[in-house]
Amino acid sequence: MTELTDLGVAAIRDGVAGGDFTAGEVASAFNAAIAAAQEALNAFILTTPEAALEAAARVDADRAGGKPLGKMAGVPIGMKDLFATKGTATTAASHILEGFVPPYESTVSQKLWDAGAGMLGKLNLDQFAMGSSNETSAFGNVISPWRRNGDTAPIAPGGSSGGSSAAVSARLAPAATGTDTGGSIRQPAAFTGISGIKPTYGRCSRWGIVAFASSLDQAGPMARDVRDCAIMLEAMAGFDAKDSTSLDLPVPAWETALSGDLRGKKVGIPREYRMDGMDADVAHSWDQGIAWLKDAGAEIVDITLPHTKYALPAYYIIAPAEASSNLARYDGVRFGLRDLPEGAGLQDMYAATRAAGFGAEVKRRILIGTYVLSAGFYDAYYTQAQKVRTLISRDFNAAFQTVDVILAPTAPTAAFGLGEMVSDPLAMYLNDVFAVPASLAGLPAMSVPAGLGREGLPLGLQLIGRPFDEQGVLNAGLAIEARAGFTARPAKWW
Ligand code: GLN
Repeated sequence: MTELTDLGVAAIRDGVAGGDFTAGEVASAFNAAIAAAQEALNAFILTTPEAALEAAARVDADRAGGKPLGKMAGVPIGMKDLFATKGTATTAASHILEGFVPPYESTVSQKLWDAGAGMLGKLNLDQFAMGSSNETSAFGNVISPWRRNGDTAPIAPGGSSGGSSAAVSARLAPAATGTDTGGSIRQPAAFTGISGIKPTYGRCSRWGIVAFASSLDQAGPMARDVRDCAIMLEAMAGFDAKDSTSLDLPVPAWETALSGDLRGKKVGIPREYRMDGMDADVAHSWDQGIAWLKDAGAEIVDITLPHTKYALPAYYIIAPAEASSNLARYDGVRFGLRDLPEGAGLQDMYAATRAAGFGAEVKRRILIGTYVLSAGFYDAYYTQAQKVRTLISRDFNAAFQTVDVILAPTAPTAAFGLGEMVSDPLAMYLNDVFAVPASLAGLPAMSVPAGLGREGLPLGLQLIGRPFDEQGVLNAGLAIEARAGFTARPAKWW
């Protein structure tokens, strides 16, 4: 018999609606799986089993009463601990926000609860979503459920949504929320053999999400497959007057319009992404992806995105610049931690609180951001990076004159081992090389599992679409999913 924890979003929704099992049974099964794995994987900062059971009880009562059920009815999910949840501690995996209990609910999480989802807990992440491995969390790093063949060394689950990726791939949750500023949904999804989509900038409200880099931050779903991502994104997206950058557009019926038939579609293969010395497994999986999309009926077109090599440096100016401004609000006065040394003045309190409350990576970003925004350097760095950002967008606009969707690897390698990269921030930043261009241009982009590399770890393929064309991205993802036949899952050791 299939265990309830093996079921994804669509299967749970349909099974609850059809009376095959109750939402309460599903929530209990996931609560138990989390309890058994928490010590080994550290995927959650806080578990909320009662919240999951209460939401499930409401769905079961609604069903019994013949009331209409929401899109996510009976589906318990993990909530990245970057989303403010009313009455439940929200930390952004930082020490500085410890003790902060939001008096409000983020728009995206509220929409999910309104759709009938329940909260299993708050998921671990890189501190303030800054990182690619979960090693910057103040609550200890997440450990991926995956291991290299014949090796027990702990593997990074990717970042920053590494709690989300670990939880979904270890079957501690059928799905989880993620946020993506420069790859934080796509790279962890790729590292753990799951799917995740960052929608067009503005599709999901940023209201109530702890801000990292506001012009880049986007929420999105992380789930077992493309259909589950489509369902959950429908529940998360939509106009919100409380976010001035929210898109005032209707939410399409992405699930209903799913189709892996790509006849008449053109898929672009960006020449600049084929880097010198590219990992052989990654190059091979990209070639396979091309063949799969051809098989689905698409025409393959070589394209050029000439400014690609400037995307990463531009991102690592713009994102820290915005972060240094956003994180100025954590000063010991309004949120969480306050460090007030004996006899200290106001400035001393700010300094002591920030020194004690922020981790090393967050401090590095604040320093870089403050530097590139300082009077003497603003034009040389920040203005220049903004110009590059425009050129990157133009590259994509030009390519989308010819092609409908772009196929590229998600990350330059499979997952790395914990501790292998922390001492070299630049090597860590390089992980985002294929992810940040779509972020800078605000485009919808998705990662789907493509296979296993030589060490037995998952590889992801990335699909990038035109603005607002999540459907095109999901459909190309579905075409790959149908052909990749990815059924590998981590062997249970926890
Ligand atoms: N790894 C990238 C960074 O550290 C992306 C993070 C993100 O998307 N939140 O900035």
